[in-house]
Amino acid sequence: MSILLINIKSLLQIRPATIRKVAGKEMAELPKLDLAYLRIENNCIADFGPMSACPNTTNHEVIDATDRFVLPSWCDSHSHLVYAGNREQEFVDRINGLSYQEIAANGGGILNSAEKLQLASEDDLYAQAENRLRELIALGTGALEIKSGYGLTVDGELKMLRVIQRLKANYPVAIKATFLGAHAFPKAYAGNPAGYVDLVCNEMLPAIAQKNVADYIDVFCEEGYFSVADTIKIMQAGASHNLIAKIHVNQFNAIGGVAAAVNQQALSVDHLEILTPEDIQALQNSETMPVALPGCSYFLGIPYTPARDILNANLPLALASDYNPGSCPSGNMNFVVATACIKMKMTPEEAINAATINGAYAMGLSDTHGSITVGKKANLIITKKLASFYQIPYAFGSNPIAQVILNGKVIT
Ligand SMILES: [Zn+2]
Repeated sequence: MSILLINIKSLLQIRPATIRKVAGKEMAELPKLDLAYLRIENNCIADFGPMSACPNTTNHEVIDATDRFVLPSWCDSHSHLVYAGNREQEFVDRINGLSYQEIAANGGGILNSAEKLQLASEDDLYAQAENRLRELIALGTGALEIKSGYGLTVDGELKMLRVIQRLKANYPVAIKATFLGAHAFPKAYAGNPAGYVDLVCNEMLPAIAQKNVADYIDVFCEEGYFSVADTIKIMQAGASHNLIAKIHVNQFNAIGGVAAAVNQQALSVDHLEILTPEDIQALQNSETMPVALPGCSYFLGIPYTPARDILNANLPLALASDYNPGSCPSGNMNFVVATACIKMKMTPEEAINAATINGAYAMGLSDTHGSITVGKKANLIITKKLASFYQIPYAFGSNPIAQVILNGKVIT
């Protein structure tokens, strides 16, 4: 049976199928249709239009969306959803004055999560991740990228990627898996960074490619982590196994990683809290999507990605959660959108574009997700009764969502 949404106060983010991302001034526009209907058939958006042209409601499951907005589900292109345990102690240590880097130097940070992951069984890891995913679904996320990167051994990375594949098989969210073996140097390779880069390229990558458990490859390109030269080497190794790069770069320092990623035709460059004019220049005339992670800036108290500089340079921008136990233990995309408006001075239209169509692009999903387009997956958010869609970022901390539809099925 098909589903018919009627009396929609406004249907947001209507795009032709040819639009894969929006950039610069285009991001200020959020195409919409007031007082609309939308029909779902076979998991997909079958058609939509003004209520005056609404099909007969018989033979449909009808949802009355009077006073409610309907928009595409959030497309969160950067998360570390699969992890074991939490890092509340580091949170308190930071309140008491330690920096993220100092905590990492004391054996905390990513290595702390790596230790916890090593001890967790695969089933336990899955159960923890599944709980988080269920919460995100209720908060409107309909497409999600999930990274490995707490294994840091061949077995540990494969364990994480298998958990991601299991989530993908069992949940209606579109999921992309990214191999992030180069997230940190494990203790066993202290003093031998080149040896670990070799392990990533020559042992982890072939094993992962052979099992076909990753869609993308990522590197934490940063001072004290992986150098630009390491990053290039790992991106090239990934490319030889058909894994396109999505890179953590410019979180704390600008060391030339953006240009290196663009040269390797990376799909996205993520973080960019520190951004130089040279980085902006490198992104121009490229197909690489800049991705901002304002939840991480909020939680760590570090600068926000300079969204206005990026948009003024006529570049696109995507927003993602960076959901992870150390620097952003929240995957709530409603909060991400609100924080982008409040702290990065993005308008609600820009932030919603960044969290839907541009997020989909940053996962290679804009042909099927990220907009209200006939033929795309029916992954939709139906809001509570709202006076204006500006209330989504304005009432930060409130959940604006009444119902979620994924793959054409009402989930909540
Ligand atoms: Zn991250």
